[in-house]
Amino acid sequence: MDSNVQPIFIMPDDTKRTTGKDAQSNNIAAAKAVAQTVRTTLGPKGMDKMLVDAEGSVVVTNDGVTILREMHIDHPAAKMVVEIAKTQEDAVGDGTTTAVVLAGELLKKAEDLLDQNIHPTVLARGYRVAEKEAQKLVRNFAEPVLFDNDPLLRNIAITAMTGKGAEANKERLADIVVQAVKKVSTLENGKVIITKDAIKVETHIGERSDASTLVEGIVISKERAHPSMPTYINDAKVALLDSSLEIKNTDIDAKIQITDPSQLNAFLEQEERLLQDMVQKVVRSGATVVLCQKGIDDLAQHFLAKAGILAVRRVRKSDMETVSLASGALIVNNLKELSSDDLGFAGIVRETKVGDEDMIFVEQCKNPRAVTLLVKGGTEHVAGEISRAVTDAIGDVVASLMDGFVVAGAGSIEIEVARGLRQFAQTCIGREQLAVHAFADALEIIPRTLAENAGLDPIDIIAHLRSDHDMGKKWSGVNVLNGGVFDAWNSGVVEPLKIKTQAFHSAAEVAEMILRIDDVILSGQGSDMPRDIPQDF
Ligand code: ADP
Ligand code: MG
Repeated sequence: MDSNVQPIFIMPDDTKRTTGKDAQSNNIAAAKAVAQTVRTTLGPKGMDKMLVDAEGSVVVTNDGVTILREMHIDHPAAKMVVEIAKTQEDAVGDGTTTAVVLAGELLKKAEDLLDQNIHPTVLARGYRVAEKEAQKLVRNFAEPVLFDNDPLLRNIAITAMTGKGAEANKERLADIVVQAVKKVSTLENGKVIITKDAIKVETHIGERSDASTLVEGIVISKERAHPSMPTYINDAKVALLDSSLEIKNTDIDAKIQITDPSQLNAFLEQEERLLQDMVQKVVRSGATVVLCQKGIDDLAQHFLAKAGILAVRRVRKSDMETVSLASGALIVNNLKELSSDDLGFAGIVRETKVGDEDMIFVEQCKNPRAVTLLVKGGTEHVAGEISRAVTDAIGDVVASLMDGFVVAGAGSIEIEVARGLRQFAQTCIGREQLAVHAFADALEIIPRTLAENAGLDPIDIIAHLRSDHDMGKKWSGVNVLNGGVFDAWNSGVVEPLKIKTQAFHSAAEVAEMILRIDDVILSGQGSDMPRDIPQDF
């Protein structure tokens, strides 16, 4: 080498860079670590995680996406895996652990092949081919689900909640979930249309969890702003305000010099007039109920009460949106523009005690019929975990009806698809075949993990399942509750097809993406700075 040649730097000094095999194995290790973290929570016998944030607040959960979200993961490849949990959550609402565990296993199997000197792009291509075939297979195996098949819909809800915080009351909760989804659904030309946003889950602490109920309307855990406001309004005209009913503090720091008492009075009168004007605008619009996302001044509360208006302040944004959807009210952010056209309609708006907490019920909205699952738990932690399980169940019932197809769970579908893939591999050539086999093996991580988490011998179980499936028992799955294997379909372990298609897709996609990376460039930006040194110090 010519020693006179100066090395050329194309990046700043503080850039960190890893390339080639190092970059790859580092990324794979990070992704596997994420999968490993949530793996023990998979299935009805999965364990929980206790997450404590910087303020010391605690969440106990086995919900994959909740765990990963609270962990604040930093590594770039690990973050990509966390993203698939979020995508899964948005697309289906359940199956987050499945997607992440599968991604981790696809990368683990890929590592073995990389060690045998198979090129990453060949592998990535093989995975893509395998995923496409897996999608075809899983659709072929799926069973249709009809809108009026309540027993099947209940089983879908129960499967989502088995082993979660809601376990003890899953039968009753499953009934409520199915009713709730049906209330917000309409059938148009044989197609089910569901407004999922019209379903709200509101938790309430203090009573036993079997007291959960379905309310036909929206429940807001707030009380009316002033005790002399009405507690019950019939045929309510609802205004939704995104601005405060207060006198705004100006940005400019103004000092007011008051030299004699009459000035003070004038000042206060002025303020009172302004507030009265604001309330007049509400009154003139014809509103009888006001839900305000911001604050309401004490005096304004008083005027509203005098006008017979039921007002609620600091209403959550998501509640505003649900009420808007259900009542037809528009969310107005400039009070000056509030008019009768912006108002929505609700048959009844009332304040009612739930346990010892006052809550606002917005009921008899017609289009769509919004519903609230009022979920009660003994403590905040219990209520939180029940509400996450119920939300998963809602997601699964909705996904099943929208898509129209379901599969049996307990690892049965993964074994069946793996079997189909192995047959398909025979039609592939060369190294691609190895990748398809690796994909099939990776799918078996689901039944394997279900068995492990239930304290069963995974080797025995997988062997048993494979031979069952070879004999045509396509729904043979892991019996996590009693040990051994069982027919998952007949035992009511049913999941939406969408969980699987989405999980296969995003797991394969992230695995391919990570495999294709051979260079990681961390640009400066203080990425090396210890966390506890303030940046501007
Ligand atoms: P995810 O976040 O992926 O939904 P879960 O912890 O909810 O993870 O576990 C889902 C897995 O548990 C699925 O593979 C599902 O088929 C399985 N499962 C659910 N109920 C049962 C059951 N009663 N017996 C066996 N497996 C079950
Ligand atoms: Mg689940």
